[in-house]
Amino acid sequence: MDLKSKIREIEDFPVKGVSFKDITTLTRDKEAFHETISMMIEDLKDKEIDYVVGPEARGFLFGAAVAYGLGVGFIPVRKPGKLPGETTKYDYDLEYGSAALEIQTEAIKKGDRVAIIDDLLATAGTVLAATKLIESFGGEVVALEFVIELVDLKGRDKLKGYHVNSLVKYD
Ligand code: IMP
Repeated sequence: MDLKSKIREIEDFPVKGVSFKDITTLTRDKEAFHETISMMIEDLKDKEIDYVVGPEARGFLFGAAVAYGLGVGFIPVRKPGKLPGETTKYDYDLEYGSAALEIQTEAIKKGDRVAIIDDLLATAGTVLAATKLIESFGGEVVALEFVIELVDLKGRDKLKGYHVNSLVKYD
C-alpha cells in the first residue's frame, strides 16, 4: 500500500512556512493503520523488546498498538507535569527555545530492551531526549521506529549507532 498517499499535508500549520504531515488521515483508514502497525511489528519482532516507549502525543497512537502486537508493555514519555509519581526530566534545545520530556522514574530498569516509536523524525531532538531518559536508567535502546522521516533535516545523522526504521520519507 502507498502509505504516503494516506498522509495529509497541511500548509502553514502550526506556523507559516511549515508543511505539516497530518497522520490522522492514516490512522482513520483501517487498512493503512493496520499496515503501518504491522510493518513496525515486523521490524521489531525478533529484537527481544521488553518495552515500547512512545513520546506524547502521537507516539502514543502508534506505540501502544505496536506494544500490544508484540505482547510487551507500553511506557509513555510526556511533557513536564503530566505524569503522576516520581518523574525524571530531560531538557533539550529546539531551533527556537527549549523543551523537556519526562518519564516515570521506576519505569525502566537496567538491561531493559526498549523500542521508541513516534510518528515523525525531524531534527531527532524528541527521540534523543527519550533515548537519554531510557539510557539514564541503564535501559538499552534497541530500535527507533517512525511512520515519517523528513530526510532533509538529517535527524538520522544524530542517531548513528541506533537501528532507525521509517516507513514514509519526505525530502
Ligand atoms: P524532532 O524532535 O525535530 O525530530 O521532531 C519530531 C517531533 O515533532 C515528533 O514528536 C512529531 O510528532 C513532531 N512533528 C514535527 N513536525 C511534524 C509534522 O509535520 N507532523 C506531525 N508531527 C510533527
